[in-house]
Amino acid sequence: MQPASPYNGGVGSVRFEVVAQCPVTGARAGLLHTPHGVVETPVFMPVGTQATVKGLTPRELAEDLDAKILLANTYHLYLRPGHETIRRLGGLHGFMHWDRAILTDSGGFQVFSLSSLRKVTDDGVLFRSHLDGDEHLFTPASTVDVQLALGSDILMALDECLEYPVSHETARQSVRRTVSWARAAFEHFRRQGETASSLFPIVQGSMFTDLRRECAARLVELEADGHAIGGLSVGEPRALSLEMVEAAVPLLPRDRPRYVMGVGLPEELAEYVARGVDMMDCVMPSRNARNGCLFTSRGRVVIKQARYKEDAAPVDDHCGCYTCRHFSRAYLRHLFLAGEILFATLATLHNLRRYLDIMRELRQAIILGAFPESARRLCALPGEGK
Ligand SMILES: [Zn+2]
Repeated sequence: MQPASPYNGGVGSVRFEVVAQCPVTGARAGLLHTPHGVVETPVFMPVGTQATVKGLTPRELAEDLDAKILLANTYHLYLRPGHETIRRLGGLHGFMHWDRAILTDSGGFQVFSLSSLRKVTDDGVLFRSHLDGDEHLFTPASTVDVQLALGSDILMALDECLEYPVSHETARQSVRRTVSWARAAFEHFRRQGETASSLFPIVQGSMFTDLRRECAARLVELEADGHAIGGLSVGEPRALSLEMVEAAVPLLPRDRPRYVMGVGLPEELAEYVARGVDMMDCVMPSRNARNGCLFTSRGRVVIKQARYKEDAAPVDDHCGCYTCRHFSRAYLRHLFLAGEILFATLATLHNLRRYLDIMRELRQAIILGAFPESARRLCALPGEGK
């Protein structure tokens, strides 16, 4: 047995409390206490792949968007500039001048999606960098060390991410490996003694509910401070992603946060929250922003369309972001067509604000006992046009 931490019987520094729960759906409003501040949940975490949310300054993220937690990618930062460099420069918080919470992923997803020459063994995964072809080995222990060097508040245990679809047997082997890697990661993490971080294991199991349940049950034995559900949004139908979350969530402890990785569309956020999910992240709002697709309270605005050429209205007249308060669709369309850098900034500010506003609205609705109505309205958003 590991020594008990002062929090929840977990092993790290992150503590979670549920402050309200929807009696109909099980959606929760909570507070996630991290060494770098308190995060209100449910929360959407903007993605800062290379220690930057593309197009935004940390000041805009903190002051304009009031984001309380960001995600950064272990794989990318390990390869460039290198975790030891970042450690020497003050960890991620100092390096990127962000004094709020940071979650890093395990590197698993990028190893399996970006790199080549992957040899997966029970010890770890050997891969070639997508940058220069150099060979690297990620093990459960080494990815914990990389994330500790980065100084993340929440670390992820190395997991095996499968493509879709795979056979039940392949997924079963992968679950066995993911559980064994998670155990190795936790043993290594706990050997470090007290750290200002928490480590979350990741539930895998491809698109098989029995494997998702088995994986969740085995990982819960680790008594982690929180749990992630990964391996979704890999090309499967969206109903199937939700089904996998439904399979895993009931097995996860109610007093720990649940994090679904890599989802989703604005109208899907409420679906996950309704299933008891507390944390999410996705590149969708920032990537789509740069591509000229803006999410609004009335659906999508594809800014390059000719209909916006002389449109003096803001992107979304219900939005209070800097972009919507000061700029017209016509101006944004002009910036986009002219290839101006400012477009990425203004569009990303708006899209992330939209995601964060949805989560704040859902949280408020849970607290007020009005979550089902709020969720229905948000899930019914049209996909196109306005
Ligand atoms: Zn806006």
